[in-house]
Amino acid sequence: MKKNFTNMTLKDLEIFFENIGEKKFRAKQVFKWIHTGVRSFEEMTDISKELREKLEEVAEVGCLKMSIIQTSEIDHTKKFLFELADGNSIETVFMKYKYGNSICVSSQAGCRMGCAFCASGTGGLKRNLTGGEMLDQILLVEKNVEEKISNVVVMGTGEPFDNYHNLSQFIELINSKDGLNIGMRNITVSTCGIVPMIGQFGRDFPQVNLAISLHAPNDEIRKKIMPINSSYPMDILLNACKIHVEKTGRRITFEYALIKGINDSLSNADMLSDRLRGTLCHVNLITLNKVNESGFTGSDRESAERFKKQLEKRGIPTTIRRELGTEISAACGQLRLL
Ligand code: SF4
Repeated sequence: MKKNFTNMTLKDLEIFFENIGEKKFRAKQVFKWIHTGVRSFEEMTDISKELREKLEEVAEVGCLKMSIIQTSEIDHTKKFLFELADGNSIETVFMKYKYGNSICVSSQAGCRMGCAFCASGTGGLKRNLTGGEMLDQILLVEKNVEEKISNVVVMGTGEPFDNYHNLSQFIELINSKDGLNIGMRNITVSTCGIVPMIGQFGRDFPQVNLAISLHAPNDEIRKKIMPINSSYPMDILLNACKIHVEKTGRRITFEYALIKGINDSLSNADMLSDRLRGTLCHVNLITLNKVNESGFTGSDRESAERFKKQLEKRGIPTTIRRELGTEISAACGQLRLL
């Protein structure tokens, strides 16, 4: 079987080239080409024809095939559907903000966390994505939009901490000075709350932003909508967040999707602020998008504003996230396997 170079770090490539009797610096040349979006050895023009032919026989570049692109006419958000080599599909979303271009990357095909409001997990987990499959989402999107991406959020389909090894490799790949060179502080990883991995993540990547999908002010509500809460109740989760902030000095973001009649009352806001007070944090309110299967309805804008005011009154910095791409089902909780 051919080696897929998109999955390999610079170190892996150096070992590969040494093993086939080539100079180590060839690895850096090839790595740079791959990360500029080149997808065939033929295009790597600073490498001899002989070596290119040799590589062609034993290796390949690129993991994904683009199958569908949808563009929002309202805000120009783009949703990409990619096909994996084994026939599974994943989605990636490209968003334009004033501060730069951002991409929402999937970390798994499907998801096994079973959050009740989320379309991505409805078919269960198909499989983990490799680091290269995560990277290739960025490379193909950059090629399509013909612009550089400056911010990466791992918040698409999948639970990144359920695929930690490959997530780590992905971060290493995109942070590489010889590759995309995306700063650690421009990367955000979002988890539904797999507590043991929070400590590990803080140690491995203290500069990378951590977001927690919280979505409830207490265990009673959270366990109804997020099964992970049975394994890691809120006390344990929030304590791990506190330690993470103390150890890294970095602010944590809590994602909170407002669901009508479930978690959006003013007393819910009071409860939430009591739980979060004293932790360096920020709350991102999301008005839940319509997902047909879930049966939940998102709160309206007025309720969201009321909830925000109440949190702020009680000292919790809060924003209502601008939802992009809702009419193409590219917004939070709407990604799915087709
Ligand atoms: S919200 Fe995230 S963790 Fe929960 S089911 Fe959806 S993709 Fe998985």
